[in-house]
Amino acid sequence: MVFDRIIRGGWIVDGTGAGRRKGDVGIVGDEIVAIGDLSGAEAEDIVDAAGKAVCPGFIDVHVHSELALLGGPDRYAPLRMGVTTQLASPDGFSWAPLDRTRLGEMKQYLRPFYEDGFIEEGRDLSLDDFLALFRGNLPSNLVLQAPHGSVRQAVLGWETRAATDEEIGRMDRLVREWMERGAKALATGLEYEPMRRADLRELVALSRAAAAYGGIYVAHQRGYADKVTIGCEETFAIGLQADIPVHISHLTVDPAAASELDRGGKLGADISFDMYPYPAGSTHLLLNLPEAAQAGTPKQVRERLADPAFRKRIEAEVERAFPEERIRFASVGRVRSDWEQGQIVIGSSPPDWLTDATTWEGKLLGEVRRELGIGLTDFICDLIVHTEYPSLMIFHWPEERYPYLEPTFKHPLHMVGTDGIYAGAKPHPRGFGSYPNIFRRIVRENGWLTLEQAVRKMTAYPAERFGIKRRGKLAPGLYADIVVFDETEIRDRATFAEPRLAPEGVEHVLVNGRFAIRDGVIQQGLHGRIVE
Ligand SMILES: [Zn+2]
Repeated sequence: MVFDRIIRGGWIVDGTGAGRRKGDVGIVGDEIVAIGDLSGAEAEDIVDAAGKAVCPGFIDVHVHSELALLGGPDRYAPLRMGVTTQLASPDGFSWAPLDRTRLGEMKQYLRPFYEDGFIEEGRDLSLDDFLALFRGNLPSNLVLQAPHGSVRQAVLGWETRAATDEEIGRMDRLVREWMERGAKALATGLEYEPMRRADLRELVALSRAAAAYGGIYVAHQRGYADKVTIGCEETFAIGLQADIPVHISHLTVDPAAASELDRGGKLGADISFDMYPYPAGSTHLLLNLPEAAQAGTPKQVRERLADPAFRKRIEAEVERAFPEERIRFASVGRVRSDWEQGQIVIGSSPPDWLTDATTWEGKLLGEVRRELGIGLTDFICDLIVHTEYPSLMIFHWPEERYPYLEPTFKHPLHMVGTDGIYAGAKPHPRGFGSYPNIFRRIVRENGWLTLEQAVRKMTAYPAERFGIKRRGKLAPGLYADIVVFDETEIRDRATFAEPRLAPEGVEHVLVNGRFAIRDGVIQQGLHGRIVE
């Protein structure tokens, strides 16, 4: 048999968790057609992988990358880690289908997380228009999830009330539209607007719609850490009432979470979760404010935070919720231009200290605030009132939580998701280093997992869980999404100070049978697809 490509003589780690074996991988077109001893076979292109690990391409189940894949400086950042497939709509975030007004507001809300220049403002965005942005334009594969955020936004706007039966019916139809176009899950973010306003009835109804298409329920749930019980109770209730497998986004297995996972399993819920390997989170500045402060349109939020009486009311809570020596600026929004144009007059004019705001990126909040000599509540409120979007923050864990990464990665229901964010000057390094970091630190230095166990959490397990067909393993008949790396050399270089440093040791990456990276170099051509 003549192959298009043979990857010769590597250690085949097939994704299932089984021990490695030496062998060749033969590829024709976009497919793996043979694995084993192909020493007599011919191919147009033979790549020597002797001594290297040959694995299925990694599947990132929670990552804010879909717009970054369309272009810009971070377009190939996931591929450089060996990621060949990413899930869209993490935390229920998306932009379709929305009319022009709501699209403009949603863009503002999501701008801390996304460079969104590919989404035109001032026009309606249908689901099919949105998906058309990606066709033929993807360096790696994209798996859709039905986004609860834009679905609720389309029907209820920024309303803070429960939905009526009629509204749930309209949301149900939108979820079905996404599922009909291949979405594998309903994704939600119940600490974000407007999704946090949904009640159990709405979430169960929409989960049933996803389940009708074989989808699963995926949640940034309504509570983590000291509120993990609240979050898990709701997640398990949805799983049991809608008869749907549930997946918890970015969960750390501290003792409370461990007992919740046990309890959910005993109740009969079908559970999995993802987590990245760093003891720090990242989200926008709004999320730590009291719930009442976050309600409504971006304009309403600004008006409320401009009010001195309101600031007084939330002061004590802000002091508690912003441990400023553990919070770092990832990016700061620019001063609002509509102020300059006199379109919207809220509060006072922008404070002078905002002029230098971009120099804060990478610095600790406390350090910046002390230099400026401003009270914490005024500082945070003024930042939100006067900038185009709420600043993106990195939240370092308190040190006593660091040890929880070990039970998280050792937990049998854990799989890998980076939660990568590709926006701003100093984003969290997790989007640029997670996979090599796991091989370097968790496998090589700490020995918490074998290489085979780690690879399974990045490949076959997510593929099975999310119903991603013909990917996630190395076997004949599957798509040739493949990563070749040196297991003794692979390492991350991204840090909080320099997040965009590319990893080392990833030699070849194939997407649908074609080289995306060869000998460490990005190749011409866009071989990714929206996964059917
Ligand atoms: Zn999240």
